[in-house]
Amino acid sequence: MVDFSLTEAQKALQENTPRGPEPILKGIFTLPPYEQEGPRLIGGLCARCTRKFFPSPFVCPYCLGELEKVHLSSQGTLHSFTVVRVKAPYGLSLPYCLGYVDLKDDGLRVLALIDFTCIEDLRIGMEVTLCVKEFGHDGKGNPALRYMFSPKTERLL
Ligand SMILES: [Zn+2]
Repeated sequence: MVDFSLTEAQKALQENTPRGPEPILKGIFTLPPYEQEGPRLIGGLCARCTRKFFPSPFVCPYCLGELEKVHLSSQGTLHSFTVVRVKAPYGLSLPYCLGYVDLKDDGLRVLALIDFTCIEDLRIGMEVTLCVKEFGHDGKGNPALRYMFSPKTERLL
């Protein structure tokens, strides 16, 4: 069972950062500062049929089993991607890149932002790594933290 409570460092960061960027949605990815493993998506694991989901639904849509929160792989393979240049929803900056990433070891294909700063380097089938980056705003003008995948291996935040 993974402990999803905030670490002391995360609590201190939140208390000492009065107007810092906030996650666009709470509870779907881990927050900085990271210790050893870097950011992770928070998915659901069905205790009954062992399927994984991201984002996690309330109950398993296959067997109605209860779901346990689990950290998903931060590594994946870029299945496909596209660049969006039309009016963006949810406070996204333009242009942005969306893609499907096959998560390593989880058997999941997730829709995610792809790091637009690497657009020239993107290739279908390449390895990508999860990162958390300030990108766009929350719809009210406040900066937002979003998860995205990048071919870069260094952490962006
Ligand atoms: Zn199930």
